[in-house]
Amino acid sequence: MKKVAISACLMGKKCRYDATDNHDVRLLGKLENFELIPFCPEEYAFGSPRPTMDLIETPQGIKAISNLTGGDLSPPVENYARNFFDTYDDIDLYIGKDRSPSCGVCSARLYDEEKRLLSFEAVGLMSQEAKRRGIESWDAEVYLDDRAKKSGYIG
Ligand code: SF4
Repeated sequence: MKKVAISACLMGKKCRYDATDNHDVRLLGKLENFELIPFCPEEYAFGSPRPTMDLIETPQGIKAISNLTGGDLSPPVENYARNFFDTYDDIDLYIGKDRSPSCGVCSARLYDEEKRLLSFEAVGLMSQEAKRRGIESWDAEVYLDDRAKKSGYIG
């Protein structure tokens, strides 16, 4: 059975910043023949509920910056991502919650340090690690759009 790493909020876990979920019954229906392995770097690192963060382009690279404190929250998220993929080193497919600064695959918002929008197609920190490891990766809404199916990856 193929293994799919998936944002836990899509499976109904109330791990979003406001302790709600993004439960997606239609998505889960499409994945019913796969083994689902949930992840949530932000809840693991900061708990739930928690302050929000945004991806900011800095001279040191793209960082996840707290909207409450202005601090760099990237290291615990990046550590979680590395540990997750070291533990589950046979993931066949990665599905991240679209637009999340951690889990968005090509839909995260990226700002400059003045909070001007630079892109709405950025890669979240968890998804960056998935891509670095060559794992087929999709935003949830894109996967539901059938583009993954049309690409021939999953029939
Ligand atoms: S989008 Fe990612 S980090 Fe945010 S709640 Fe869902 S799994 Fe957690």
